[in-house]
Amino acid sequence: MEVYFDNAATTPMSRAALDAMIPALEEQYGNASSLHTVGQLAKEQLEQARADIAECIGAEPHEIIFTSGGSEADNQALVSIARWGAKRDKRHIISSAFEHHAVLHTLQKLEKEGFEVTYLDVHPEGMVYPEQVEAAIRPDTCLVSIMYANNEIGSIQPISEIGAICREKKVFFHTDAVQAVGHLDINVKEQNIDLLSLSGHKFHGPKGVGCLYARRGIILSNIIEGGAQERGKRAGTENIPAILGMAAALKDILSRREENEKKETAMRDRLIEGLSQIPHSKLNGHPTKRLPGNVHFCFEGIEGESLLLMLDLNGVAASSGSACTSGSLDPSHVLLAIGLPHSVAHGSLRLTLSEYNTMEEVEYVIGILPGIVEYLRDMSPVWESLEKGETEHVI
Ligand SMILES: *Cc1c(COP(=O)(O)O)cnc(C)c1O
Repeated sequence: MEVYFDNAATTPMSRAALDAMIPALEEQYGNASSLHTVGQLAKEQLEQARADIAECIGAEPHEIIFTSGGSEADNQALVSIARWGAKRDKRHIISSAFEHHAVLHTLQKLEKEGFEVTYLDVHPEGMVYPEQVEAAIRPDTCLVSIMYANNEIGSIQPISEIGAICREKKVFFHTDAVQAVGHLDINVKEQNIDLLSLSGHKFHGPKGVGCLYARRGIILSNIIEGGAQERGKRAGTENIPAILGMAAALKDILSRREENEKKETAMRDRLIEGLSQIPHSKLNGHPTKRLPGNVHFCFEGIEGESLLLMLDLNGVAASSGSACTSGSLDPSHVLLAIGLPHSVAHGSLRLTLSEYNTMEEVEYVIGILPGIVEYLRDMSPVWESLEKGETEHVI
């Protein structure tokens, strides 16, 4: 059986996305900046996609800037508010220890430029609480950036509450909602979100396209300089096929949002139930406030990488955490942020589902995983010393 359980890394394209893209690739090749009819058709399609995406998140069309993806949107959001803050002697930023690297590495760059960043602790269940944000806000704070849902452990943050605090304290609030858009109900106005990043390929749209929502009145700084596209805030000829694909994918997935949530939650909870039977295993992230498609476990005494290889040999595509950090030997910063010791963090497995998965696939994985874990533990010196009582079990 071939099973794709790595939807947090990327998703297959939906039929709706392909149907929107193919004509744009084959026939409608116009440049939206051209004045002739071919160009103006492209411009119309571009603006329709902008309006569609805005509507999906409760924004106005002019509050949407198209980017090359979630990473660029995160970079632009943070750098823009930092530049604004620097002009007003507000050089303090609040974020958390388990953000995506697109946020963390941008913050590190800003720290080198003289900004001070408070990285809020993440509670063991994968949550950052509003009280922590409130306590960290200072007179010189310009920005709070907290992700909507974590890409490794799936925990969903109290975004509306954090948004309300930021609005009251007059601090800009950005959320990296790349894992949440298309999967959860989002309304930037009701939730007091000033800036939000999203990415097409996390909800069955194409890769290499995303957008930044920035509330009316927020002055963005450019990351890419050049032409006057995107109200002069993001230069470069718009990738119209990708933008149309992203908009179609988002409308399509949201048309079944509640149905998808029900279906994915049932598969998720069955997986959690099945994998919890494996001795010395632990579910990471919040038991209920988690993305409908996210399952994340640690298994003591084994390496996540060997587990992935064994699963791959059995037709299952999974991840040990973030696709961006796999290949490095350091354990995930997210797992360290929720307080897991290195030894446990190494044995992690992330299974992320989409509406295209089935309960048969779930049962297949529940069927093979205990045997794989046992096989790897039998070969593991770490497990041997745990079994002999030379080292203590942590989970
Ligand atoms: C995937 C992801 C990103 C990066 O988006 P790209 O479009 O791949 O650049 C940023 N943040 C989170 C939480 C993600 O899951």
